[in-house]
Amino acid sequence: IDMGRLTVGYQPIADSRSRRIRGVEALVRWPRDDRIHYTPDVFIPVAEESGLIEDLGYFVLSEACKQAAQWPDIFVSVNVSPVQFMNPGFAELVERTLTRTGLQATRLELEVTEGFIIDNADRANVIINRLHDMKVGVALDDFGTGFSSIGHLRRFKFDKLKLDRSMVTDILRQPSALRLVQGTIAMADALGLMVVAEGVEDENQVSVLRLAGCSQFQGFLFSRPVSAQEIGSMLTAAAPLAASA
Ligand code: C2E
Ligand code: MG
Ligand code: MG
Repeated sequence: IDMGRLTVGYQPIADSRSRRIRGVEALVRWPRDDRIHYTPDVFIPVAEESGLIEDLGYFVLSEACKQAAQWPDIFVSVNVSPVQFMNPGFAELVERTLTRTGLQATRLELEVTEGFIIDNADRANVIINRLHDMKVGVALDDFGTGFSSIGHLRRFKFDKLKLDRSMVTDILRQPSALRLVQGTIAMADALGLMVVAEGVEDENQVSVLRLAGCSQFQGFLFSRPVSAQEIGSMLTAAAPLAASA
């Protein structure tokens, strides 16, 4: 972190009908000189255990807000670890970052997983409500893994539900997987939550998910995570995202 080696990649999130970019997810990257890349799946847990996640998370949040303020309209979604989220000063940190970077609160979304709620439901509720009042979006990430509790969806003011790739992957092969996804989207709809499908890799998945009422798509079919500069070019081209862009 101190050596400035970390960077942030951005993966487009497309509108399910127009296929235009509605937003991007910021994903931390650690490129190395020898062309070996450490993936976040490996180093995020280490950062969490060692207490470095707050610095790492703050770097990604600042960088993503600064960058998004340069782009027109689109939202930027930032992953937040439980440790960061439960820090008493978290909402203020977000507020200060927005002020400093000039990004409108409505253009920031924070992605949390259910793990953080389990031990600290009351505190989590206070923080989510606070972010909600600030007009910052809160998305429940990786839905379909872990707890996937209907109770949590009803109790907490989430704006969005992100269907995990593991749920999306099987919908073309297993009728039961498709019914589960359809049911999840219907449930989200009843609760007023927008649904994003993660890990969309296939054009047939797009047709099925759109029919089921999914609003936004994210996946390699549209684009892998790319540099901020490449996002800028995509936005300038203003074209719908073609398959395998
Ligand atoms: P996530 O938040 O669920 O992010 C989506 C992950 O799925 C990303 O992996 C993305 O590259 C990958 N992905 C997107 N579309 C596809 C697809 O079509 N096929 C496949 N096979 N994969 C796809 P990535 O960048 O390796 O990140 C992994 C996880 O690490 C993230 O999962 C998130 O939980 C965590 N992470 C990444 N950046 C940050 C960060 O800045 N802070 C925190 N706390 N966690 C982060
Ligand atoms: Mg995420
Ligand atoms: Mg996810």
